[in-house]
Amino acid sequence: MVSDEDASFFKGNLERRGIDTNPSCDYCGSESEDSQHLFRFCNLAKLVWMYSPLQICSNDVETVSLKKWIQSYILLFNSKDGGSEAKLDAFISILWSLWVTRNERVFRNESKHVRAVLLTMDRMLGMAKHFKECTLATGKSMMNICKPLGFDLVQLGAVRNQVADFILQIDGSWEKKTRKSGGGWAFKEHSNARYREGGGCYGSALSATQVETEVCLKAMEWAEKQGKREILVITDSSVLVSTLDNIEIADISMFWMVSRIRRLATTFNICSFLKVDRGQVQEAHEIANKCRKNGVTFNSVI
Ligand SMILES: [Zn+2]
Repeated sequence: MVSDEDASFFKGNLERRGIDTNPSCDYCGSESEDSQHLFRFCNLAKLVWMYSPLQICSNDVETVSLKKWIQSYILLFNSKDGGSEAKLDAFISILWSLWVTRNERVFRNESKHVRAVLLTMDRMLGMAKHFKECTLATGKSMMNICKPLGFDLVQLGAVRNQVADFILQIDGSWEKKTRKSGGGWAFKEHSNARYREGGGCYGSALSATQVETEVCLKAMEWAEKQGKREILVITDSSVLVSTLDNIEIADISMFWMVSRIRRLATTFNICSFLKVDRGQVQEAHEIANKCRKNGVTFNSVI
């Protein structure tokens, strides 16, 4: 692992020693590329930590040295409460993936974004798991992390290395027996704000995923009308997110709608889709239920 002291490799460090090199970060172009920046403060690092299964805010205590910061997490993950070996493995895999990605960028000119780093992390965890299962006589899996080690962040806008502040929460509600459906969306301008009602609709549908897909398109069209150019759409439907990621797997009945979503997404500056837990789309869920039960369609104005 790279310690603070041992970071002579970094360009910022070379700069301080009078070696002429461009000290800015190759990824985000800002600040000097020291170890704190690479592992914690770089746009890439911040997003990777946030969208990893650990959901860490890596720039919260800026004054803490990298060494202390890493130590505090290792202590936490080793502790009885809040700790697990799987989390520790994930933590170290993320540090390692950021380092590997940085080297690929600097030495091989390969530009990788959040998804690629998380994929590298996932692969490393897979190898760690395999290694442990092979070496431990018990053969017991150590990977009982609180969440599955998936991540579902799809970036379709023009800018792919950032996530927007404007969050659009969407959800669908569907009654199998009657096929009645409702959709809802709520929004907030930035992460510290409260969610407000965006809009909702009712109708009928053949599946829950169809409702989710329809409401996604409607919510995006609404955001576009409100003049938003940068959005983060959050949904609890993993089918929707993986379909947007890989159109070939789209159900033929939804192919057309998924194509429309993808086409609209590319007209945004930033347009990301993130799979979240059910609890994180609570406001949209309530709107969707209300619209289905009362047969209401409405649009708010920001
Ligand atoms: Zn950077």
